[in-house]
Amino acid sequence: MGSAIDPRRPDDGPAGSPARDRAGDPEARPVPGRPQVLLAQPRGFCAGVQRAVEIVERALDLHGAPVYVFHEIVHNGHVVAALRARGAEFVDDLRDVPCGAVTVFSAHGVARAVEMAARERGLQVIDATCPLVAKVHQQAERHVGQGRVLVVIGHAGHDEVVGTLGRVDGAAHLVGSLDDVAALALPADADIAYVTQTTLSLDDTRALVEALQTRFRHIVGPGTDDICYATQNRQHAVRALAGEVDLLLVVGAPNSSNAQRLREVAAGQGVHARLVTDETGIDPTWLHPGVRVVGLTAGASTPEVLVQRVAARLCALGAGSVRQLPGLQESVVFRLPPALQPLPA
Ligand code: SF4
Repeated sequence: MGSAIDPRRPDDGPAGSPARDRAGDPEARPVPGRPQVLLAQPRGFCAGVQRAVEIVERALDLHGAPVYVFHEIVHNGHVVAALRARGAEFVDDLRDVPCGAVTVFSAHGVARAVEMAARERGLQVIDATCPLVAKVHQQAERHVGQGRVLVVIGHAGHDEVVGTLGRVDGAAHLVGSLDDVAALALPADADIAYVTQTTLSLDDTRALVEALQTRFRHIVGPGTDDICYATQNRQHAVRALAGEVDLLLVVGAPNSSNAQRLREVAAGQGVHARLVTDETGIDPTWLHPGVRVVGLTAGASTPEVLVQRVAARLCALGAGSVRQLPGLQESVVFRLPPALQPLPA
């Protein structure tokens, strides 16, 4: 069965609708007197999100509904609603899952205590943790196993950070700001290692890593950071777009870290930037006469169909053309867990 949330699927509107005919056309020319929309490339779904969504869909195909999912599979309400409609049940506490039921862990990863709780309930776990998050977990475990104090650079309360901190038994500290680094009560010669959340701002993280390296002379880490290819590519695309637009819209959920970072990156370039969950979040007054070019991008957990709906709404509000900018074509694909891979034909 095909994906209910295909990131490549165009808008479902009829031929002649603005989104279907114009959105993403690399040759689209500006219409005099009307705002132009420029689409960032790349944008939207990353390989880790694509894999996580596909895992839930295949689990439903294979085992039937309900399939339980621990936390939002990815941070996007539309994705969650589409999977819920197919029979996924989202829970924040494994005690709400019947013993022995099929249960998917989200792309953000989980703490060891969650794995243990799942074992105690005899759950049939399918792990949709993104392989790049799993790599950070392995680094954290290795460092602590070698006797180092762990510093996690990230945002307090984010599912990924909760999971990473919960992978290690030894001392671990979370820092999210330069003040947090300054407040670390550790000696300058402490044996310290750092890892980072995968979806942070490149600039903010660089500053925090430099501050840690300045304070702790023996600190070790992953080179510069663990920020994933998708986060980096989307932030670079926003930077490339920033000089050309008067307004930038980021399509994404408020609890999506990488979508929020895209908005911040644009704002840091002096661009008026807004986060919208879908087309209903657009305030028509944003397209005032001073706005000639609107940039449009999406966080890594946002399906393309929402971008197309936002583009269609901008056209309905007066935009004259939607042009897809040239940019990096990503080809990263993560394999499904063996139990869910299709059988060879
Ligand atoms: S944003 Fe990066 S780390 Fe997160 S799911 Fe996507 S590829 Fe994986």
